[in-house]
Amino acid sequence: MSAKPPILLAGNWKMNHGPKAAREFLQKLELPKKDRAQARLYVPALSLTSAIASTQEKTLPLQIGAQNVHYEKSGAFTGEISGPMLSEIGINQVLIGHSERRQFFGETNESVLLKTKSALEQGFEVLLCIGELLSEREAGKTESVLTEQLVHVLENQECKTHFGGRLHLAYEPVWAIGTGVVATPEQAQSAHGFVRSLLTKSLGSEKAEDTRILYGGSVTPSNFKELLACPGIDGGLVGGASLRPESFRALWDLI
Ligand code: PEP
Repeated sequence: MSAKPPILLAGNWKMNHGPKAAREFLQKLELPKKDRAQARLYVPALSLTSAIASTQEKTLPLQIGAQNVHYEKSGAFTGEISGPMLSEIGINQVLIGHSERRQFFGETNESVLLKTKSALEQGFEVLLCIGELLSEREAGKTESVLTEQLVHVLENQECKTHFGGRLHLAYEPVWAIGTGVVATPEQAQSAHGFVRSLLTKSLGSEKAEDTRILYGGSVTPSNFKELLACPGIDGGLVGGASLRPESFRALWDLI
């Protein structure tokens, strides 16, 4: 059996922090290296270049990633950003299928699959987001929604080979994102256990264990430790609490 992957603290800045604010954040951030943890920030497209430059200047142990990527490499897709464009500026991390992309920009399980496949083919490491709406949880549909969100990816031969390597997951219950209502450790652990069981059925236990499943949804320095203590939670995807260097550092110190 291979060793568990390091815990990942991933921040999602959403549509916050332009190039100047990104530079200021990274100039302020102090992040001591840790053996068993990695840090990453998914920043707005326009701030990627400035974030990478600032990270390199300070040799911060931090990866910079994009929040979205189109599945085509070029073409008539006004407003979109392609894999080759990201690669050209040194980005090799992408977030795919965030619930805000699904909710406000019409992303579907089908387009998420296309993006995931294409990003993996182009050499990116992908953090794929899944999670149920409150109405779905209340209707007892959490597991069927998670299954629907993952089934195509798990059935796709190309994606399948990358789980545990360049493809990892973030479980983000939509009702917990940006609401201040964090999932209880029991709710999070149960969803993570279910997702892991889907991975195990389809990929075998070794690849399933090698795949990180991050929890996301109103993570703060006051609840992160308790969530991280749950078996099967391999890190956090954090929105609001990743926006200030002090709170990002406070989360890092809890790992
Ligand atoms: C997110 O943006 O993925 C997220 C989980 O946001 P927040 O931590 O603010 O709930």
